[in-house]
Amino acid sequence: MNESASLLSRMPSLYVVATPLGNLQDLSPRACAILAAVDVIAAEDTRHSQRLLDAFGINTRLVAVHQHNEQEAAGRIVDWLVAGRQVALITDAGTPAISDPGARLVARVRSAGHPVTPVPGACAAVAALSVAGIVEGGFRFVGFLPAKAAARRGALMKLADEREALVFYEAPHRVTACVADMADVLGGEREVLIARELTKLYEEIASMPLAEAGAWFAADADRGRGEFVLVVHGATAREELNAGAVRVLELLLAELPLKTAVRLAAEITGAPRNGLYSHALEHCQ
Ligand code: SAM
Repeated sequence: MNESASLLSRMPSLYVVATPLGNLQDLSPRACAILAAVDVIAAEDTRHSQRLLDAFGINTRLVAVHQHNEQEAAGRIVDWLVAGRQVALITDAGTPAISDPGARLVARVRSAGHPVTPVPGACAAVAALSVAGIVEGGFRFVGFLPAKAAARRGALMKLADEREALVFYEAPHRVTACVADMADVLGGEREVLIARELTKLYEEIASMPLAEAGAWFAADADRGRGEFVLVVHGATAREELNAGAVRVLELLLAELPLKTAVRLAAEITGAPRNGLYSHALEHCQ
C-alpha cells in the first residue's frame, strides 16, 4: 500500500466525502475521521445527515447546501476557507456532485484557488457497474433521463447506437415506464441490469433482456419500490438491413404508426428491431 496523506491538509480545503447508499458500514474510516475533524460540514439535507453523524458520534456543525442555494452558499464557504476553516461536503447518499448538488461549489472553490480533496466511497452507479459484468468497452453515465415520456424517448433515441454500456438513475414512480421506453427505443433484446436498493435490506440485482423487464416488475409489487440503477448493455454493431426488410418496413410505415410498423417488420423479417427503428427515424419521417 502507498503511504497515505495525513488526515487534513495544512491548507484549508474542501473535502468531498462519499457517504453510504444505505449500509452504514460503507462509511470509510477516513471519511468518518475527516467528518469529525473539519470545522463545518456542508450537507444537502442537514436533518438527514444529522442521523448519519449521530450514528458515528460526530458533533461537527452542519450547514445546508442544496441545489437552490448552492451559488450563495459557495460564497460563504470560500470565505470560511479564506479564514482558515476546513470544510467537508456531503450529500444524502453516495458521492456528491454525481447527479447530486456539489459541482458548482467545487468549481467555485477551485477557481478561488483552494484545494478540493476527494474522499471516495459509495456511488450507486459504480456499485451497479461493478456487478454488471460489462466485459468489453467502457460505459457512459447518463444519470436521470427526462421525466416526461416524449423527452425521455428522444434522449434514448440519441443513445440508441452507443456502443458503450449506459448507466441510468431512475425514480421508483417512473422506473416501469422507463424500462418500457428503453425496450421500444433501444431494442427488447438488449440486456439490462436492474440494481435495486443497493446495500440495503431489500437489495435486489437482476439482469434480463429489456423486453422482459416489464414482466419482472409486474411479478412483485415490491420490485417497483426503492432506488434504482439501470445498466443497459451497449448496442452491438448495427447490422446492415437487407433490402427485403427495408421494403417491408417502408410499406408498413406508410400505413401504421412508427412503433407498430417497426415491431411488425421485425416479426415478419427477423431483422433487428433497433436497426429497423433507427432506419425508420432516419429515412421515413
Ligand atoms: N450521488 C449519488 C451517488 O453517487 O450514488 C446519487 C444521487 S441521485 C440524487 C439518487 C439516485 O441514485 C437514486 O434515484 C437512484 O437512482 C440512485 N441510488 C442511490 N442510492 C441507491 C441505492 N441504494 N440503490 C440503487 N440506486 C441508488
